[in-house]
Amino acid sequence: MTDLRGWRLCPRCGADLARDSEAVRCRACGYAAYASPAPTIGAIVLDREGARVLLGRRGRDQHAGLWDTLGGFAHEGEDALETLAREIREETGAEIEPLAFIGGFADRYGPDGGATLNFYWTARLVSGEPAADDVVELRWFPVEALPPDEEIAFANTARALRQFQTMTSSARPTLGVFEVQLVTRDLDRLARFYRDVLKLAVTMWDITRGRVHFGLATGQLILAAAEGEETSPDWPGLPPPLLVRADARGPTPREHGAVHFALQVLRSRLFEEGERLRREGLDVRGPFRWPDGYQSLYFRDPDGNVVELIA
Ligand SMILES: [Zn+2]
Repeated sequence: MTDLRGWRLCPRCGADLARDSEAVRCRACGYAAYASPAPTIGAIVLDREGARVLLGRRGRDQHAGLWDTLGGFAHEGEDALETLAREIREETGAEIEPLAFIGGFADRYGPDGGATLNFYWTARLVSGEPAADDVVELRWFPVEALPPDEEIAFANTARALRQFQTMTSSARPTLGVFEVQLVTRDLDRLARFYRDVLKLAVTMWDITRGRVHFGLATGQLILAAAEGEETSPDWPGLPPPLLVRADARGPTPREHGAVHFALQVLRSRLFEEGERLRREGLDVRGPFRWPDGYQSLYFRDPDGNVVELIA
């Protein structure tokens, strides 16, 4: 972080500094320094039901007496989530687990303070009962009844809380895809396809108990063995999923058979991933270009589910 306000003389040689909007430069020795915000990491800590948010009342420094999320400034060498865990341990004595990224919001640390860039995650408590330590008071607020903006210490925090309320409002209850589950009559074959052909990361491999889990950046893919022919294993009474012949021809965007789901890939990797899967023998269709700028590839897994790679 560099806060260049008030700099007039070169710290290296003492000559006058020239200034533009982003940097100061010394014409005498060539020294240059660039203004950059200090990163902070904050948590919107939820209770175990996800119904209330834990806020702390600030006891010192900027905006004492106002409500704030838990978190603080990153130390050198810390990953963002290490900062988050450390700050919450210091402020409350509790341990948290981060859940979802909310956003990053620019601000200043008080009216005369340096520039900050403030990143927020939702988090849940995993151990310990939070007790006020670095803050004067901790209080749980219902998600629908957070303090008004004028009682929130920083404008960026109010923006993060509003963003969180929008993401979780009853009008829009979903945050995103967390899990896709495919029920299959040949778990071993399907699991090997997703592990060996699609190269997904295995987080649990338990063929004998009928479960294989793959970790994705924003959730997980679960493969579950069907037990018998009549009902799904987890939901007795429901019919088993429609199975399409594994050698069915490749799908197009308007032909969604069985389960259809999309895996997001890096834009720079989409083409080579499609070529790689073609070399694996898959009938890959696309790329199809969408008006909003996305591109998609389509193919079927060995059970006939339609898998879309989107970038
Ligand atoms: Zn100089």
